Amino acid sequence: METALNIHIKGVVQGVGFRPFIYRLASGAGIKGWVKNTNEGVDIFAQANRDELNAFLHQIKVNHPVAAIINTIHAMPSALADVPCFSIISSENRSLEVTGISPDIAVCDACLADMEEQPNRKHYPFVNCTNCGPRFSIIRDLPYDRETTSMSVFPMCKSCKGEYDHMLDRRFHAQPVACLDCGPGYQLSIGKKLVDGTIDQLLIIVSDLLSKGKIIAMKGIGGYHLACDASNEKAVKTLRRRKKRDAKPFAVMFRDIPSLKGYAHISDFEQHALESWRRPIVIVKKRGRTKEPALSPSISSGLNTVGAFLPSMPLHYLLFRIFPLPAIVLTSGNLSANPIVKDDDAAREQLVPIADAVLSYNREIIHRTDDSVVRIMNSKEHLIRRSRGYAPTPLHLSLKTDGILAFGAELSSCFGIGKGENAILSQYIGDLKTLDTYLYYEKEMTDFLHLFRMKPELLVCDMHPDYFSSKQALSFPGLPLIRVQHHHAHIASCMAEHGLDEKVIGVAFDGTGLGTDEKIWGGEFMVCDLSDFKRILHFDYISLPGGDRAVEEPWRTAIAYLYHVFGRDFHQLPLPFLKAVGNNRILPILKMIDLGINCPMVSSVGRLFDAVAAIINLCLESTFQAEGPMRLESIAANNCNNSYPFRIEKTIGVDETIRGVVDDVLKGVDSTLISAKFHNTIISIIVDSVMLAAQKEKLNKVVLSGGVFQNKYLTENIHMALKRSGMKVYSQEKVPANDGGIALGQLIIAAKRRTSACV
Ligand code: ZN
Ligand code: ZN
Ligand code: FE
Repeated sequence: METALNIHIKGVVQGVGFRPFIYRLASGAGIKGWVKNTNEGVDIFAQANRDELNAFLHQIKVNHPVAAIINTIHAMPSALADVPCFSIISSENRSLEVTGISPDIAVCDACLADMEEQPNRKHYPFVNCTNCGPRFSIIRDLPYDRETTSMSVFPMCKSCKGEYDHMLDRRFHAQPVACLDCGPGYQLSIGKKLVDGTIDQLLIIVSDLLSKGKIIAMKGIGGYHLACDASNEKAVKTLRRRKKRDAKPFAVMFRDIPSLKGYAHISDFEQHALESWRRPIVIVKKRGRTKEPALSPSISSGLNTVGAFLPSMPLHYLLFRIFPLPAIVLTSGNLSANPIVKDDDAAREQLVPIADAVLSYNREIIHRTDDSVVRIMNSKEHLIRRSRGYAPTPLHLSLKTDGILAFGAELSSCFGIGKGENAILSQYIGDLKTLDTYLYYEKEMTDFLHLFRMKPELLVCDMHPDYFSSKQALSFPGLPLIRVQHHHAHIASCMAEHGLDEKVIGVAFDGTGLGTDEKIWGGEFMVCDLSDFKRILHFDYISLPGGDRAVEEPWRTAIAYLYHVFGRDFHQLPLPFLKAVGNNRILPILKMIDLGINCPMVSSVGRLFDAVAAIINLCLESTFQAEGPMRLESIAANNCNNSYPFRIEKTIGVDETIRGVVDDVLKGVDSTLISAKFHNTIISIIVDSVMLAAQKEKLNKVVLSGGVFQNKYLTENIHMALKRSGMKVYSQEKVPANDGGIALGQLIIAAKRRTSACV
């Protein structure tokens, strides 16, 4: 007997081949009815016998297109209708289709096969279908149609149009559909010379140049990359020099998983992330002994990890067919601190001096997207940079967010807008102190407001008045503005991700953030909910001689700690790093501290890591963000359970910790053990502090956030220790624990305060 269901599906189900999938599934099973897009997702009317409908629902859940995300699926019985077959019907109000922007999707296997077999797509590097290809990076406006993308200048040929119009075709309504006859193409320029040829001819030249140690700028999905042979130390060093990037690790693209396994230890979770359609860079542990040819040591600058990723564009696959080696460096095409170059003119201006050749294509990139970066901790994916493949996927929240615009922080910045019960976060933007990055932030914000048809009603920014993001908030005069404390935003961001709307213990450890006492925080324990927080414990303040200068020169923070712990006697300590710094640099620092000149007081754990990295002579100057802490983590021994003493009273004191580190250095204890002992100390401090708070406040949920928790050793061990003590522990996964997650925290805090005010 026939029955009927009305099925409502919410989530990311538009622009990802969802309706054709439903159509094929239903027609194949003889189900009658229809499917259509709505402003919130997809509606289906399905009529068949009960078993078929149950199987249909099951198939939707388990076999949906890879890039689709189903948040909720509701099926309600419905009256039977007189429908002859199954069809896709057009949407009632397309102007409201605003939640449907899919991120860019790596090329799928079926398209890779087409690239071998279809005559009009033979080695065609822009092959795509409803399951794969560019999305966000080419969208100019909504509704998502070819005319509103940068594909608009490429009229479809007859054959592509046929596929586009045919409901059962894999390219049905695939907006970027293209082939050799009608789509975009690549071109290569070497110096001022433009080289013409088929893609294979161009790639033979590119491969040859790479093999000779040359640097190639290659236009990717979301911006230009710079590439060189990953086994050629000279080429990598040249790239560093020309890019003005001292030591920040470069990402490496490997031919495939077997090649990568010759160079790094890959867990199943890491492999899963690497192969996902989002194709992020995954931070993996290098092997001690690797396959030949070895990776250039300059890639990771002494860290024990490498940022690895797999081919995601058809071009990458074509290149590895010709290029004989297993890996290429593929780093973002920019001068350090500037945003990734996306326009061809800018590439000529900024990248020609760096690259020996430029491989470009004639389709415009509308939205920049850097490569995303993830790290697997506790067998779960944790985003460190959220961009290609992830943005602008909405994050589903438990509160209404309409009209809220969150400006984010300043470093690793990202803003967010509220829509329905979602947060739509921008892609990773970067350090707003660089003018071009700030302009990018401003432009992308304008674009998001337009794309998502968002009219700001409530603004929320960081408490820090000097952040460029906070200043940007002032450019929307007349709207109410909430200023949120930085570390409260960190914790709220993690709570938002996990749907927590209650009192929790928050542990926010990072580099810097302005506190309510005008001092710089970064080692904070708080009891908080989504609307407010109470700081219950923090690390002792220490002078940061020179402020931002000390962030770049961790030896300064080390001096501040030694001076504080040992008094002037620290001069007598025969520490190698003191010798390396020299008295002529140390004495002025002591004067600064004595007189309190340009010495902000900080409680930051990031800076404490810096200080220890300097005291053990591991990192005196920081050439990239968090270099000291990263180096410290990188060397930590795995089999050490010892730790240093510390004090928890009204505040947390680490004088004895610093003494312990110094003693060990003087005794000649191996740095790998000192690092492990220091990490273990931080873990003990967290566990002891959390357990004190848990008893006092009768709470059992702990929320960890802030850049310090990108540290795998720390995060995994804290989870283990706190769980053993009966606590429930939450970390950031979908948004970064660094300042890239601040906008989400601001957004949820504003949403919560707005609802409370209404009650
Ligand atoms: Zn495809
Ligand atoms: Zn075509
Ligand atoms: Fe922060």
